[in-house]
Amino acid sequence: MGTIFGENMITTELLKNRAALEDKIRKLIGRPILLIELDMFALPCGCAGITANMRGLEVDDLEVFEPHLLVILKEMAANLDVKPTATFAFLVPGSSIVASLNWRILCQRCYPDFARGEGKTPRPNLYMLQFERRK
Ligand SMILES: [Zn+2]
Repeated sequence: MGTIFGENMITTELLKNRAALEDKIRKLIGRPILLIELDMFALPCGCAGITANMRGLEVDDLEVFEPHLLVILKEMAANLDVKPTATFAFLVPGSSIVASLNWRILCQRCYPDFARGEGKTPRPNLYMLQFERRK
């Protein structure tokens, strides 16, 4: 694979996946949403994952298109070799606006917080799309 100056394999993959995910969500919901930033992260507690900061996406879109959206979100996580324990959306507090989509490999400390939650919205600003229960 050729390298562009200042880029490496990881950033090239992130750029490619940012564009592809934005395009797929636009086609799915039929509106010009923006994926303004795609990040991979690691937290001090041990959680790691991916965040996609969104503009123009609403909770209604998640509810209506959830099965198709999940396929797209799983596909991108697999592209980046991330196997999330939880996939969820953070909402702008007190609104129906989706601030970000998140794929998180939960650490031992954070897992119980998520496992305790019930239903699609265990917290007012959280919309669960997928959760992998540990046995
Ligand atoms: Zn954690």
